[in-house]
Amino acid sequence: MQPQRVATVGEEELQSRSGDDALVMRSSVALDLVVQLLSQAKHSGDQAVLARADLADIAAWFRATEDRKDRLDRAVAGLYHGLPTGVIDRALARRLYGAPLVTSVHRLETYAVCPYQYFVRFGLRVEPDMQRAAQAAEVGNLLHDTVFELADLHRRQVVRFDRLSRSDMIELAERVFAEKLLESRHMAFQSGIRGARAEDLRNYLQAIAEALWLQATSGSYEPCQLEWSFGMPDDEAPAFVVDLPNGEQVFIRGRVDRLDLYEDGDTTWFRIFDYKSGSSYKLDATRMFYGLQLQLMVYLAVVQASLAEQGKRPRPAGAFYMPLLRLPGISEVPQADDVAQAELRKAYRPEGYLNADARAISAMDRNLPGAKSELFGDLYKKDGALRQTAKVWTDDEWDAAVDFTLNSVRDIATQLGEGNIPVRPYVYAHNDRGCTHCAFKAVCHFEPMDHTSAYRVLTSKRFTDIVHRSVEESESR
Ligand code: SF4
Repeated sequence: MQPQRVATVGEEELQSRSGDDALVMRSSVALDLVVQLLSQAKHSGDQAVLARADLADIAAWFRATEDRKDRLDRAVAGLYHGLPTGVIDRALARRLYGAPLVTSVHRLETYAVCPYQYFVRFGLRVEPDMQRAAQAAEVGNLLHDTVFELADLHRRQVVRFDRLSRSDMIELAERVFAEKLLESRHMAFQSGIRGARAEDLRNYLQAIAEALWLQATSGSYEPCQLEWSFGMPDDEAPAFVVDLPNGEQVFIRGRVDRLDLYEDGDTTWFRIFDYKSGSSYKLDATRMFYGLQLQLMVYLAVVQASLAEQGKRPRPAGAFYMPLLRLPGISEVPQADDVAQAELRKAYRPEGYLNADARAISAMDRNLPGAKSELFGDLYKKDGALRQTAKVWTDDEWDAAVDFTLNSVRDIATQLGEGNIPVRPYVYAHNDRGCTHCAFKAVCHFEPMDHTSAYRVLTSKRFTDIVHRSVEESESR
């Protein structure tokens, strides 16, 4: 079918030309059409598209004046735009990021998401529009503050959770939550949380309170530090220093949400928790392997070094993400209340790894190994051996996971120092890409259709891949 003739008009002419025989369109729509047709020709190689009469009409209209021609030329040039070179001068990199490099784990993870994103955000210091993200974070902050206050009451022995009944614990959590609501930093909620939202929050809070209560009543670990910050100007604890292969160092600062200890003879078992209100709450081998998930292992190394400095003999007992805002899967049929509650409790179990040593495990839950744990699930078989699916690591495996992660830190810090900032977002699944939540799409000019080869494609990994790679790396050093 032959495309019909079009008349392209500026916005002011659109009304007066509406009776014209030719198809009348706004100039902005016409420009979009040109770009789409040229892009189609470029990607499909179908040159016939270029012979369309409507394309010629539109192009003629744009070429009629200098202003319009300029608009057309710029739109067409965009089709052939190349990505930034991906390298800046080393001296400039030092000026932008600082020398020595002082950074956080979150920032290093951003580099793994996309080096260019790191450059724009932390080098050029472009502030993303965080309004939507800030709104989403408000509920998480409110729950985070509530959990901090609760754990602190227990730590300071103002209220011992192990002396409360389950229902008393939930009542206490609701009281602390109500107090937190009145604080100025949670002003957004002061007009009241009502209806379904209030009911949802109440359910989350109840599940979190039960998880805290179970940790205290079933186990022997005691909270030692809450929101333990290191490396910031007012912190007692210094930054964590990682030596780089080029003789330089990187200084890492951060904050451990909770550190628990269990003294067992001359061994100090320790476990760390990171409270999560976002969607990523699982310790994931693929994300660890590609540097997207460094936090728990770096924090584990920081805590281990700090405890050793205090003269203790620390051994990692576990590292967990603790969900604060997590919806269980929606069932296809309505569930009985007790089933729904059990699902919710399960959704709020800490997610992470334990030390395979039976002493470390039974001190987390005295029901283990004899029975199933409400907190950690079914870890043991009937014969007392650990299940294949049990998320446990031996001491060697903990060491390998930490070493591997510190090597990822070294790689990223070295790349930063060398000024390497390629536009190279990761892609793991169609809905899991570096660009998915990036606020800098307008800055990098990355076009998924045009720049497919720039993607860093992640392939699925298992923890054994991390252990093997770690062993290889240590042998090659
Ligand atoms: S939009 Fe994608 S390619 Fe561009 S900076 Fe962000 S993550 Fe990188």
